[in-house]
Amino acid sequence: MANPYLYGYKLPINKYSANPFLAQKFPQLSSFAQQPYITDPNQEIPSSGNIFYHGPTNKLAALTFDDVPDSLFAPILLEILARYDVKATFFALGKCAHQNSSMVGQIVQKGHIIGNHTYDHLDITKISAEQVREQILRTEEEIYQIAGVRTALFRPPFGFFNDTTMQEIIAMGYKIIMWNIDSYDWMGLTGPAITSRVIVNIKPGAIVLMHNACDGSIEAGTGTVQSLPFIIETLKSAGYVFASIPTMLGIPAYK
Ligand SMILES: [Zn+2]
Repeated sequence: MANPYLYGYKLPINKYSANPFLAQKFPQLSSFAQQPYITDPNQEIPSSGNIFYHGPTNKLAALTFDDVPDSLFAPILLEILARYDVKATFFALGKCAHQNSSMVGQIVQKGHIIGNHTYDHLDITKISAEQVREQILRTEEEIYQIAGVRTALFRPPFGFFNDTTMQEIIAMGYKIIMWNIDSYDWMGLTGPAITSRVIVNIKPGAIVLMHNACDGSIEAGTGTVQSLPFIIETLKSAGYVFASIPTMLGIPAYK
């Protein structure tokens, strides 16, 4: 299965074109900046028993954070989530868990769910099956040593996977958790731009993709923490209830 989802989006044109840094960093995206917002292409992909793009269409929504944890923004994310009593799902990179192990412990202690996002954030369609297994198991073991839980939720780096990797990952006891709302925080959008993207595209059963900045992408982390309180307040006032991925989907959090 090809996965063109990452570059299939159109971008908020003003935010993108007004930012020379982003225009330089992502030149391949400039041609997509034609209209303010479009529906995320993942919106219409049905979930199956092992791969989920969204939950049931009740008024639940799930916030998910990839590239977890860093030491700068992760504490702020946890503080905001605690303030609003929201439980979220965090997809950790093994290398970042190793570097910021205390944050992994806090995520679990505070009642959030931690999932597996590989060790090094490689494109798993470009490495051997053996390497894929090693990337996932090394991360699983790292998190187990820190927090005593064995991850059962997997999010592929960049959202890329194919039939071979999909079967391998499922055989390892994982559910693949995709998303149907991309906040675009990874592009370094401002807080208001991220908030707008999420609120405009939200629908019942949404799985929202956001990021932590453990790879050193500070421009992504700032907008994320700026937007999070507004996203939560707006969606709560619209009647949404936030749930972790296992709660929303009715699947086990851990092995
Ligand atoms: Zn990632």
